[in-house]
Amino acid sequence: MRDFIYDQPPARVIFGSGSFDRLADEVTRLGAARAIVLSTPQQRNDAEEAARRLGTLSAGIFAEAVMHVPIETARAAREMARNLNADCCVAVGGGSTIGLGKAIAIMSSLPIVAVPTTFAGSEMTPIYGLTDGGVKKTGRDRRVLPKTVIYDPDLTRTLPVRIAAPSGMNAIAHCVEGLYAPDGNPIMSLFAAEGIRALARSLPVIVREPENIEARSDALYGAWLAGTVLGGVGIGIHHKLCHTLGGSFNLPHAEVHTVILPHAVEFNRNAAPEAMRIVADALGVKESAGQGLYDLAVAIGAPVALRDIGMPADGLERAAELATQNPYANPRPVEYAGVLELLQKAWAGTRPVE
Ligand code: NAD
Repeated sequence: MRDFIYDQPPARVIFGSGSFDRLADEVTRLGAARAIVLSTPQQRNDAEEAARRLGTLSAGIFAEAVMHVPIETARAAREMARNLNADCCVAVGGGSTIGLGKAIAIMSSLPIVAVPTTFAGSEMTPIYGLTDGGVKKTGRDRRVLPKTVIYDPDLTRTLPVRIAAPSGMNAIAHCVEGLYAPDGNPIMSLFAAEGIRALARSLPVIVREPENIEARSDALYGAWLAGTVLGGVGIGIHHKLCHTLGGSFNLPHAEVHTVILPHAVEFNRNAAPEAMRIVADALGVKESAGQGLYDLAVAIGAPVALRDIGMPADGLERAAELATQNPYANPRPVEYAGVLELLQKAWAGTRPVE
């Protein structure tokens, strides 16, 4: 057993079909009485459902969350929270809405109750992001961690398969990088392996049978584990590339994760053999971890090529340059030529070869 430090903050997680009905109790439990409810415009309905469950505990709805938390949106939400005299923030949605809650928390220390409806995992991490003048800056601060997370698989029923599949691959990516993180530990590795298992078995079922609530529940369970891993240990070349491509080329978040993951794993294959074995086992494949991840993406109809999600071929060199500046810690040294080759394979969408 190698040495490690385990330093996980406490988390209150309410999991299960129908748990959304416990929202008012959970807000009261925090000693709050005036909750501002956040959502995207597309999920106003979910926000109204939250407000209905909160009754007199609801102070108002801010349904303007958008991807990457523009600072103007965060300020407007913070202003509304102040005007409403809110003492708590209920974020109902995916990473964008929970990210907005975190931005309010960093400005005001309002406690968050998160009700995630995708598999992105942001609700379990102390990582927040804010986009100012087109540049997204991220930071880590435990003050932004939701005080309570309500995982109700019923809320993921409306998540279309075309969003659910890449969102699940995004969660798997958190698990994979946690397995080779230099600050990893055996507990996070257990979470990571179980997270991959849960997602790998449930995503194909969700795609085949979108109404299968057992599978959606299984995937949400995997997403919880994945978010915990992302929040608990470091990230490497995969997340660095995704942040670079998302930030500088405005590519869609979960889809970029889906496309890059098999190639980032292949890039690290010889430098992290134990992690690769665990990933392949958790996927239940005899092939390499990279091939198994690629095959899973194909099986669930998720994108496998950067060229199909808006990446210009003439941007690859610039992306490789950006990703090799200030790289995150990674098992294999991150150098320009290797990263460019990785990106070229991901752009073409070829299956990793042994
Ligand atoms: P998202 O929150 O942007 O949601 C995508 C779209 O799906 C939105 O229109 C949303 O309203 C809709 N949607 C979400 N759940 C739905 C449901 N159940 N039914 C119908 N529609 C639904 O997507 P995401 O992938 O969850 O989040 C991406 C963002 O989160 C990125 O900005 C990313 O950087 C951030 N993120 C942050 C962390 C972190 O730890 N800070 C972790 C993961 C992702």
